[in-house]
Amino acid sequence: MSLWMTRLSQPPGKRHTMVEKVTVTVDALQALLDQLKGRGYRVIGPTVRDQTIVYDEIDSLAELPRGWTDEQEGGHYRLVRREDDALFGFAVGPHSWKKFLHAPIVELWKVVRNGEDVSIVAESPPDQRFAFIGVRACELHAIAIQDRVLLGGQYPDSHYRARREGAFFVAINCGEAGGTCFCQSMNTGPAVESGYDISLTEIVTESGRSFVTEAGSEAGLQVLAALPRRPAMDEEIAQAKAVISRTAAAMGRQMRSDDLRELLERNLDHPRWDDVAKRCLTCGNCTMVCPTCFCTSVEDSSDLAGETASRSRRWDSCFTMDFSYIHGGSVRASARSRYRQWMTHKLAFWVDQFGTSGCVGCGRCITWCPVGIDITEEVRAIRDSGSTEG
Ligand code: SF4
Ligand code: SF4
Repeated sequence: MSLWMTRLSQPPGKRHTMVEKVTVTVDALQALLDQLKGRGYRVIGPTVRDQTIVYDEIDSLAELPRGWTDEQEGGHYRLVRREDDALFGFAVGPHSWKKFLHAPIVELWKVVRNGEDVSIVAESPPDQRFAFIGVRACELHAIAIQDRVLLGGQYPDSHYRARREGAFFVAINCGEAGGTCFCQSMNTGPAVESGYDISLTEIVTESGRSFVTEAGSEAGLQVLAALPRRPAMDEEIAQAKAVISRTAAAMGRQMRSDDLRELLERNLDHPRWDDVAKRCLTCGNCTMVCPTCFCTSVEDSSDLAGETASRSRRWDSCFTMDFSYIHGGSVRASARSRYRQWMTHKLAFWVDQFGTSGCVGCGRCITWCPVGIDITEEVRAIRDSGSTEG
């Protein structure tokens, strides 16, 4: 079995227990970053930029969003100061880890002319493995979904594989539910259960902030063994459990998910699709921020001198007219048909294609929709109407 299947496709609820829980201090987290860099990883973590929390390369703990939290609602995101100095006291921002694993633009190949010679240059794989810091439970599920889509079929994506293999995941159990989060409804959080190398839960003790920590893989065990640590005390473990329970109880949104496939399939001509079409700008923001959306298009370009030509792959969106363009026009010409395509694929027909829902309940599509369209509200409107058309 390949690496991605063994590490990220374990059933929810199955937990690695490769090592006892240990407690590490905030200072030991800097040692963790140093360890990972020393082992040749490119360390990526959350950091504040342009008044949002984004994922980018980090060198030190000072770059984490210490003391910040995010206020999220439909079409609304604001960073606000916390009353404490938590390092991970926020939910998720506009970026997801797909920015690194399934990159927005990939040059597939380039042709270079040199006199009479023509050479074809393929994109080189990244020269460093990624170490991701602060990965949430819903995000691990999203990566498992992209693994299934991009590696699980007959034609695995070699670009994704090159970035994905050897990646190291430091997960964080969520201590703060965002106003648009509904991972609990989708059974994807807030507790981290599998697919990580090291998991952290941030707690407050008499001596300050610390992290109840667990290894989830052999690689995680080795890194953890090199950090200053001590066995976690019973009260710290209880505190860590309480963090998760509090977060689960504070989800900003809920959505019944056990019958979505059937509900949406029965309602493909529901009048709610016309209603949402009047509000939807078809901007595609929801697909760009979604950690599971994977569609791409391919573009060719050449320089004016005719010396080089290249073929690139870039993220695309089912909300554009071009996405479904065939000779004679677009298959999905209306906003109604494009929104319906996106939502029914995410919540219903993804199950037929890939065996799971395409939604992990991260709430990004609600927060970053400029007009605040809310996928949970759209489902509720169809459900509450009691309509069963089709
Ligand atoms: S639902 Fe919102 S984010 Fe998505 S395309 Fe429509 S307006 Fe844009
Ligand atoms: S559809 Fe929305 S809530 Fe679901 S995974 Fe995508 S961005 Fe997150």
